[in-house]
Amino acid sequence: MANASTISSSDILNTQPLDSSVINDLANGILNQNRRSLAQAITLIESTREDHRKSADELIKIIMTKRKSSLRIGLSGSPGVGKSTFIESFGMLLIKSGFRVAVLAVDPSSRETGGSILGDKTRMERLTREENAYIRPSPNKMRLGGVEAHTRESILLCEAAGYDVILIETVGVGQSEIAVEEITDLFCLLIAPAAGDELQGVKRGITEIADLIIINKADGKLLPIASKTTSDYTGALRLIRKKRNTPPNFPKALMISALTGNGLETVWANIQKFSKWQVSNNIRTLKRNLQALSWFKEEVAERASKQLEKTFNLEPLKKRLENDVFSGKKSPIEGIEQFVEAMKDKLKM
Ligand code: GDP
Repeated sequence: MANASTISSSDILNTQPLDSSVINDLANGILNQNRRSLAQAITLIESTREDHRKSADELIKIIMTKRKSSLRIGLSGSPGVGKSTFIESFGMLLIKSGFRVAVLAVDPSSRETGGSILGDKTRMERLTREENAYIRPSPNKMRLGGVEAHTRESILLCEAAGYDVILIETVGVGQSEIAVEEITDLFCLLIAPAAGDELQGVKRGITEIADLIIINKADGKLLPIASKTTSDYTGALRLIRKKRNTPPNFPKALMISALTGNGLETVWANIQKFSKWQVSNNIRTLKRNLQALSWFKEEVAERASKQLEKTFNLEPLKKRLENDVFSGKKSPIEGIEQFVEAMKDKLKM
């Protein structure tokens, strides 16, 4: 009989059936802080197979009551801004302070490219070697909504494995930041020093969802530009509409060098301040309750529509309509109408 601790991460998906004892083994492994069990479990929840989904649901139910809560931090920024470097230095700082750190890198862009550019362990060498760190790149090959669906569950698994701080990293491609903001307690946006007065984050509306704007690379020749960028953002933040449910003086802009480590302690102090405020004002609970509610709503809609398509064999029609809409033969509205009519017909049966 296959045992979760003896099968590899990819093998687990070939183990059939994944009966309750394998799931229990997996749950116990996770609760005993076994990184391999954790990796296997995340592979399981990322699987698109229906029987795996059932096992994943079973696993989540088991660990749900036994996990401890963590601080969930979202981190986003354009490629090259220094996300990996930041996670490496910041993660090391947290570990030295006695925390266990998990990094979940979510990469919606890999839907097109097929490969992950986040969570590159070669750029987090020190952290990768730490026993109290867990780094998981999760190329997301499916829908963008899948970013939350799987990552939400990965967060719960990491909490069951006893991680105190969970960093959820995503590349700045617009939608993904919003998705990450919706599953975390606070959201940090990493920005590069920019000459001129152009405030990219403000322009793209991302600053409105950021709790901390972190200007990286404040060192060497870039230091003066970084200072200017920081004061530009500080000024701009006073003008934008304040995000709801944030402590006084947030969102704020801070300057760091991920390379030298300068400013990282201030970032952590501010994150802790933010977190304490959230907890003592009941905002943490409110935020997580709202997140649970939207998780439920999204998942119900997703599973209900899948089930409907399957039960009434609507997949072929949907594919045909998708092609017609793509080629311009039908407008999206025409396609929607035809699909809904077909669904109504089937429901009358
Ligand atoms: P990512 O794509 O956002 O993960 O960015 P990386 O962490 O890979 O960093 C991209 C480049 O910026 C690398 O060459 C890093 O060495 C450099 N870099 C990152 N942080 C800093 C910093 O604080 N100061 C300077 N000068 N360079 C940095």
